Amino acid sequence: MHVELKERLLAHSQSDCWENAKEEWYFDNVFYAEEGVPCLCTDYPIKHVCVIGNCENADTKFICRSCANEVLEADIAEEIFSSVEKLKEDITKSMTSRVLEYMMFKGLVSGFEFEFYSNVMDKQDILEGQMNSKKIINQKLIDFTTYETFSTFSKIRSILLWASGNKRYRTNFVESIKRAGERNGLFSKKQIQNIDEIYMKDVVE
Ligand SMILES: [Zn+2]
Repeated sequence: MHVELKERLLAHSQSDCWENAKEEWYFDNVFYAEEGVPCLCTDYPIKHVCVIGNCENADTKFICRSCANEVLEADIAEEIFSSVEKLKEDITKSMTSRVLEYMMFKGLVSGFEFEFYSNVMDKQDILEGQMNSKKIINQKLIDFTTYETFSTFSKIRSILLWASGNKRYRTNFVESIKRAGERNGLFSKKQIQNIDEIYMKDVVE
């Protein structure tokens, strides 16, 4: 499985030597696919999906968690899955500090939320209000890793990419939805509908 991934990934890289090609790929995010989606490394659909991006050609690919860990050494993917699974069982628990840093990097938590969470994550007894704020941040991580959120962010990326070649297209509205998605970890029904409509009307033709 891992040998195949190297070969297949190489075919989508700029460099034709694995040692260099490997450096082109960065870990982007993870999501849960209830139906299972095709990935680059096995011939079977996977449900725990890791999204990787290529910084040379802006390509994105899906790979399984074990390939992310062992081939690309992106062990953060596994850590996100474990945190999400722990929080789905008990929303009062804590994600790890690396996962919290990842959320900050993705714009899902503000500097203030980051400080707050870091201060309460190891404490047993916290105030009710603090627990509520902590649960909101935990829920954001769970929501961010759903297929629906992933798919809406992907459509936004395609719209913005398409718009960069159409200078007269105004992207303010799409960008405001993107920021809301980053802030909340998910999109409202209305926002998903808006993005779907713009995507179908402008990008898919
Ligand atoms: Zn794999």
